[in-house]
Parts: sequence; structure tokens; C-alpha cells
Amino acid sequence: MKVSKKRAAALLAAVCLAGMLSACGGQAEEPSSRQIFAMDTAMALTVYGTESSAAVQAAEEELMRLEALLSRTSEDSPVTALNRAGGRQTVVGEELTALLDAAGTYSRKTGGAFDPTIAPVVLAWGFTTGHNRVPDPEEVASLLETVGMEHVHLDGGTAWMDPETQMDLGGIGKGYASDRMAEIFRRYEIPRATAALGGNVLAWGTRPDGTPWRVGVQDPRSPEDSSALACLLHLENAFAVTSGGYQRHFESEGQSYHHIIDPATGYPAQSGLTSVTVVADCRRDDAAGLPGNGTMCDALSTALFVMGEEKALDFWRTSGLEVELVLVTEDGRVVVTKGLAELFEEIEESGYRYEIVS
Ligand code: ADP
Ligand code: MG
Repeated sequence: MKVSKKRAAALLAAVCLAGMLSACGGQAEEPSSRQIFAMDTAMALTVYGTESSAAVQAAEEELMRLEALLSRTSEDSPVTALNRAGGRQTVVGEELTALLDAAGTYSRKTGGAFDPTIAPVVLAWGFTTGHNRVPDPEEVASLLETVGMEHVHLDGGTAWMDPETQMDLGGIGKGYASDRMAEIFRRYEIPRATAALGGNVLAWGTRPDGTPWRVGVQDPRSPEDSSALACLLHLENAFAVTSGGYQRHFESEGQSYHHIIDPATGYPAQSGLTSVTVVADCRRDDAAGLPGNGTMCDALSTALFVMGEEKALDFWRTSGLEVELVLVTEDGRVVVTKGLAELFEEIEESGYRYEIVS
């Protein structure tokens, strides 16, 4: 299936945040919409159904609650308390313990490519503060000694870390937030909705006309132009989470450095990929037991970006996790795993070559 660039832009003009989007229904049914800035990200919610206003309100409150819970810059978040505890055991609550536990699980499953203790290295590169700099190799090497989930310990609502270790849930927090959005949509019996939390999209149900939501995968070569797409996905009841080096980066001496760090080297991952999108089902039988697939997709999108094409596809084939991938490569290919074969659309004139892998 192919659409022209122009038609894609027209189709997608309606809602488009951070390159990912939901789409226009054009039906009589009026949704409740809201734009929110939280977790350092522009977010957009569009919710249908009789309870849509109440659900949007609950969703906004939940996003504010999560920001307060997960922030590592606010003075009084439990993450800040943990980071300042200097090795002491800290009460962080059951919810944060569960998220830290999930982070540890995905760190192990990805051989450390996802690692939320990479924070001191991210800080040294200035991505947290905006004062970007290239740290020298000795500094990076010494910071890497504090990195690794083996430095993090959990026990019944409490956590403690080895004294120099720092926690940054930036690579997983918005994914967890999208799990919470799904939970709210379930609770309010919302038939259809979209939540775009930066590069984390939740496509709940279908569009009002019963067709799948259209989710654009941003073209990493044109990050400022949100109508420039690498491909289009037709998704229902799915999370789609994108990580890419194009989202946050700086230049120094002709070299570009981005914000996704390879924990093996302490340097921005140079894996030959420009973005990774991870897609998974957003429904689950049990309403409890979050974090869920939104959290998983976020952790994996960061990790698979670090891994590169070959390792990412090996992971997809062998991990046993039910996910599908879209990998955009530096050499101009869009690699799509076979579960998305019928659900993706090429963008004519994008200049990309499209490959389906099994
Ligand atoms: P974004 O948050 O920009 O949508 P990601 O989900 O890929 O993108 O998360 C990137 C953020 O996660 C970085 O800004 C940094 O704070 C943190 N981070 C960087 N490298 C890693 C890594 N290898 N593992 C876990 N977190 C990382
Ligand atoms: Mg992530």
C-alpha cells in the first residue's frame, strides 16, 4: 500500500504531536480533546464516548500525579529521595517499586542496552541540564562504574542503591504513563481514544468509522517537519513507541551527539539506526498488575535503538515478547517486522526503501 507524501500530510494534518499522531474521524461523534505539557513533553489526548470528559479529566490528573512521582528534577519526588539517599534504604512505595522492578527486568532482557542508571552519564553529556558538552573518556569511564541495575535493590515498597548510583526513568516513564492512560480508558469504558505522550502513542479501539487509527512514524531526517513520515501504521488497540536520536541532540566540532547513550560505552549509541518503533497490544485481561506493554514498548524502543538492526531483529526473533518493530536505518531503509506487513503503508517519494523481515 502506498500514499503520496502530499496526501499523507493532508490526512495527518489534524492531530500531530512529536511526529506521532492520531487521526481525524470526520464523524458526528464529538471527542473530548486536551493538550497537556507534562514529563517534559507535549501530550495530546482525544477521547470518545459518553464518559469522555470525565476520562480526559482523570487522565490529566493522572499525568500530573505521574510527573510528581517520577521526576528526578523535582525536590520532593520519591525518585529524587532515592537519588539523594546516599545508599540508605528509602520508602518509595509499591507503585514505584513495581516500575523499578520492570525496569530491571527489561534491562536484563536487553543485556543492559536499556539501563535507567545511565543517569550520571546522561548528565555529564548535559542532556538533563541543557548545557551540552562532550565529556572526556576518563570521566565517562569513571561514571560507568556507577551504572548497572545490580546497584539497585528493592524490597517491599522500599529501594536502595549503591551510593554513587542514580536513577532516571526518562526512558520508561512515558511508556508507564501510557499504560495508565489505557487503564483509565478501560475504567471509564471508553470505546475509542488516542493518547500521544511524546513518542509514546496509545491507539485505543478504532476510529469512529471502525477503521484503524493512523499512526505516523516520523521521518528522522526531517524532525522539525511533523508531516514528514517514514511510514504510516494502521493500528487498533495498540501501543506504538518511537525512540530516535533525532529527538534531542547537539553539535560539537562538526560531530552530532544525541541523548540515547549506549551503557556499554557511555557514548551516544551509533548503531546505524535513526529510529526504532515498537508496537504491542494495549489490552490486557487483568486491570491490575501494571506496568504493562506501554512500559515494555518504551524500554524496548530505547534498548533496540542502542542495539542496532541486527541485534534488534535477533531480539525480536528470540525474546518471546509479543512485539513488532519498525526500524529506520541511516542508509535509508525502513525495516518492518512481518506482524506489521498488512498494517503499514509506504510513503511515496520519501526516498526510503522498504523491507519486510521474518
Ligand atoms: P524520549 O524520552 O526522548 O522519548 P527514550 O524513551 O528513548 O526517548 O528515552 C531517552 C531518555 O532515557 C534519555 O533522555 C535519557 O534520560 C534516558 N536514557 C538514555 N540512554 C538510555 C539507556 N540506554 N537506557 C535507559 N535510559 C536511557
Ligand atoms: Mg524509551
